Amino acid sequence: MTTTEPMVEFDDISKVYRGGNVAVEHVTLTIDRGDFVCLIGTSGSGKTTTMRMINRMLEPTGGTLRFDGKDIHSYDAVQLRRKIGYVIQNIGLMPHMTIYENITLVPKLLKWPEEKRREKAQELIKLVELPAAFLDRYPAELSGGQQQRIGVVRALAANQDLILMDEPFGALDPITREALQELVKSLQEKLGKTVVFVTHDMDEALKLATKIVVMDGGHIIQTASPAELLRHPATQFVRDLIGEERLVQAQADITTVGAIMLRDPVSITPGRSLQDAIALMRKRRVDTLLVTDDDGHLKGFIDIESLDNNYRRSTSVSDILNPKIFYVHESALLRDTVDRILKRGLKYVPVVDSANRLRGIVTRAALVDLIYDTIWGETDKPPADDAATVNATPADPTKGV
Ligand code: ADP
Ligand code: MG
Repeated sequence: MTTTEPMVEFDDISKVYRGGNVAVEHVTLTIDRGDFVCLIGTSGSGKTTTMRMINRMLEPTGGTLRFDGKDIHSYDAVQLRRKIGYVIQNIGLMPHMTIYENITLVPKLLKWPEEKRREKAQELIKLVELPAAFLDRYPAELSGGQQQRIGVVRALAANQDLILMDEPFGALDPITREALQELVKSLQEKLGKTVVFVTHDMDEALKLATKIVVMDGGHIIQTASPAELLRHPATQFVRDLIGEERLVQAQADITTVGAIMLRDPVSITPGRSLQDAIALMRKRRVDTLLVTDDDGHLKGFIDIESLDNNYRRSTSVSDILNPKIFYVHESALLRDTVDRILKRGLKYVPVVDSANRLRGIVTRAALVDLIYDTIWGETDKPPADDAATVNATPADPTKGV
């Protein structure tokens, strides 16, 4: 759906109000056809100003702004506005007009015949999953969420390719808000619309956007896809806006188990004696040993308790080997494994390659390191447990991922 055909181009745009109040400065931004652009930033950072210059509700005081390749001043302001849908928080609907009249306001201004307008309204109300009978109601007879659905519908009614939305869901409860986010995203994709959406909610931006524009003090701080933004936040301001929790999660989203595992875990082969096992445990100061065959294939583990209990009766590691062991593959994403590791209360988990050969272990300590690295960078790690020490028995061992 997304092509690289520019629809709106900001070229060094500024907006200075009378009295010298600088709302927006040096904004350079390309919005491609099919983009879902989210402008995000703190209050007063210039999001609304940036958006309103697109349909000439506000005039830039510097720079060039192009729509469909032509300077916006080559369009008649009213004509331009009608080419562009606009959804705002609350104020959307005219209270004295029916839902039908509200939806077909712009088509009427565009002088569509009555029959075509009626058809369009019927089609759109179905699209947003509201009963056709609502067309004859007044806005006050609908819930907040339903009204905002109509607000979205109205922006689609005149077949405008570009839709501007200024914090449209800010006043809605979380469930209604989520439903409307999904609606807007699916309509945007299905109908191939281009959307510019102002929000101060990072979750909303990450969920909806193909391109996120972070603003602060009238400047663009970073323009990036959601994935890029999470991976490489440009400044501390962007990091703060994203928040620690999401950064940690994002790090886990792209990091494999193999990337953080500790290599060279303490292991023993099944044919070795229990004396050897005990000596190895003492030397490496661990209370479990992973057991591998001569080719390094993971066979299970032994622990100090079974050694104690069976010392008299057994002679070799294979006699007390516990083959039930939870393990993970080195190519697995941490995202998919962290939860399981933490939920099982394991202090470490063995990591195997595609041939089931033991490659390393992932310890809780390594996970803690990862989290601190993500938040504070490589230095200033708090003291962690000795990461090389394997000091717990895998609980509830079952086959791994
Ligand atoms: P946002 O939408 O990010 O909250 P705005 O674009 O509304 O921010 O405002 C950006 C800056 O421009 C703010 O400092 C605001 O006070 C200022 N501003 C907005 N409208 C006007 C105006 N009509 N006159 C003077 N300053 C304005
Ligand atoms: Mg605003």
